[in-house]
Amino acid sequence: MARNSQNVCKLCRREGMKLFLKGQRCFSEKCGINRRDYPPGQHVRPKKSTDYGAQLREKQKAKRIYGLLERQFQHYFTVAQRQKGNTGENLLVLMERRLDNVVLNLGLALSRFDARQMVAHGHVRVNKKRLDIPSYLVRPGDEVQIVGDEKITKKATDAVEMNKGQSLPTWLEATPSELKGKVIQLPKREDVPHPINEQLIIELCSK
Ligand code: SF4
Repeated sequence: MARNSQNVCKLCRREGMKLFLKGQRCFSEKCGINRRDYPPGQHVRPKKSTDYGAQLREKQKAKRIYGLLERQFQHYFTVAQRQKGNTGENLLVLMERRLDNVVLNLGLALSRFDARQMVAHGHVRVNKKRLDIPSYLVRPGDEVQIVGDEKITKKATDAVEMNKGQSLPTWLEATPSELKGKVIQLPKREDVPHPINEQLIIELCSK
């Protein structure tokens, strides 16, 4: 992941694709990459993509969006395979349920990096208990709240202010004034806002 929230857009520009690292802001017109449909640099020609290349690229995209290492990604794939239903959809839903992703989606952080830092540094409570594991998978009924000193609450309040007016996923409920939110239900495939073709990923991982 990027070292700080200021640099995360550079990752998107480097990859030549939207990686949705700044939460709701990425879906707004403020996203600079909306104006770009090619990687940075002059005279860049689209590369001819093979099936394998397309599959690999899709997997890399998913890993970068959620900030996962290969080992973590493979773990989610294994769990998704064991679950009932469509493995690709299960995979996306698992990643969407990560606590750092929920903090970001609730608008309590300005970037995925910030959301992960908040969790890892113990500034997030789940059901009133401190939980510092960004990969924790939320469940329906879980209440997520930012707690901490003035610096932390100001950071979260600033994020709430910046994210004002952005739509909230239907599986979450937010109470911005208290820097908290609640998981109403598990996300479904249609709640995953990122343009990821999970079928390509499954084809690759099943080889
Ligand atoms: Fe990437 Fe989001 Fe920045 Fe757009 S706003 S360039 S999607 S991190």
